[in-house]
Amino acid sequence: MAISASASGNIHLKVPETARTKAGREPRAVHHWLLQFAAFPDAGTRAELEHRRIHVLAYVPENGLMAASDGPPELRGLGVVWFGALASSAKLSPELARASGGYLILFHPDIDGEAARGIAGEYGFRPQEVDGLQPWHVLADGAPERLADLAARDEVAYVLPAPSALYTHRRLIACNGPITVAGPVADYAMASTGWTAQNGSVALSYVFETLPGKLDQNAARVAVEQAFAEWAKFGNVTFTAGQQANIARNIEIVFASGAHGDSYAFTSPNQLAHTFYPAPPNSEPVAGDMHFNDGVNWNLGSDIDLFSVALHETGHALGLAHSDNPKAVMYPYYKMASGLTEDDIAGIQALYGAPKSPAAAGNPVSPITPVNPVAPVNPVQPVQPAGGDRSAPSVTIVSPSLTMISAYGPGITISGTASDNVGVARVEWSTSTGSAGAASGTAAWSAQVPLLVGTNVVTIRAYDAAGNSGWRAITVVRN
Ligand SMILES: [Zn+2]
Ligand SMILES: [Zn+2]
Repeated sequence: MAISASASGNIHLKVPETARTKAGREPRAVHHWLLQFAAFPDAGTRAELEHRRIHVLAYVPENGLMAASDGPPELRGLGVVWFGALASSAKLSPELARASGGYLILFHPDIDGEAARGIAGEYGFRPQEVDGLQPWHVLADGAPERLADLAARDEVAYVLPAPSALYTHRRLIACNGPITVAGPVADYAMASTGWTAQNGSVALSYVFETLPGKLDQNAARVAVEQAFAEWAKFGNVTFTAGQQANIARNIEIVFASGAHGDSYAFTSPNQLAHTFYPAPPNSEPVAGDMHFNDGVNWNLGSDIDLFSVALHETGHALGLAHSDNPKAVMYPYYKMASGLTEDDIAGIQALYGAPKSPAAAGNPVSPITPVNPVAPVNPVQPVQPAGGDRSAPSVTIVSPSLTMISAYGPGITISGTASDNVGVARVEWSTSTGSAGAASGTAAWSAQVPLLVGTNVVTIRAYDAAGNSGWRAITVVRN
């Protein structure tokens, strides 16, 4: 089979065909191949690819796969209509023209982090240290005129503007992308075609199969429903509570940890959720289903905010891909959100159009009400005060300054202040993973806290002489 110089057929890439075919710089050695199939590559086809040492990395709508192989792939008999390298011009986001600082360089997911940072460095891109980056993602500053040469490297998949929160938060949580039974959808690909309209609109039902174990269940349900309502406010789609999970056009909502029946086990608390794209490309009844990691300490109104994550995942359930706009809810890294941005609204309206007027639909969209933050679960029983002083000390954690952070080492230093009407007698710390100890200092205190890999909820508690106590907690995710 001849190697095609450019994509044809109905592969949906973010960079239009005309731009792609003008590419001047193409990789010398190709290990990453874009394969276009005549029909959706089923499980048998994907197993045969693996058997031929062609590793599937991502799904590219429609009916395409990104795959890695050492030499030119042997594709006979697999229904491949063409294959070739991803053109370098297809790897540069159209949003880069509006970017004002920093790039998110996505390597193919089989490239390890050290190699990725090294390649970026070869072209003068200076990698930034940021918690929570996918190992194959590099955040870097550099000269825009070097981007085309960088993109010509076979290892590079896509370059887009850096997340807007980068320099303020230094902590990111990645979405693993909308998923299909053939792999996650590539970030250089456009949205799927979405759900097909029936009688002029798309009506989906939803069923909560399970609810979170560590968050008020009714509040969790409301947060997800508010996310649905936000999309329905701007797109011609409706969501109705259903009775049956295993039917077509139903979003099954599951809170689960570890392996939970699909090929996408939750193996880290940094994996917040994943959502199956509509049918096609997914088949029913899995299409549209949203799975949340119940190993995450879900919250409302503060990190990790269930509404914000559900809002992003609902975009995937509707067929939206990731947006390259750093402000968008659909950017590949999650952010706290109170609603959709212009970019997200343009995305949903491109698939389904604007909603019909509420009067015409006979079904007004309920207004979004703000979600009240829920206090973290208090893991330590309060000590009964003895004597006349009943005022509890107050505690402030000064460093780290966020209520949830990622860390890499075996321990962390947490420091802050405590005050009391009489006087702080002592400050203690304990973790959800079973460690406890005394902090040094009282009014200004500091604690050395060991971390286990995974989620550690650290509670700092200040006591006064009468035994009253006040506390603050911080969640530290050790990678
Ligand atoms: Zn996503
Ligand atoms: Zn799942």
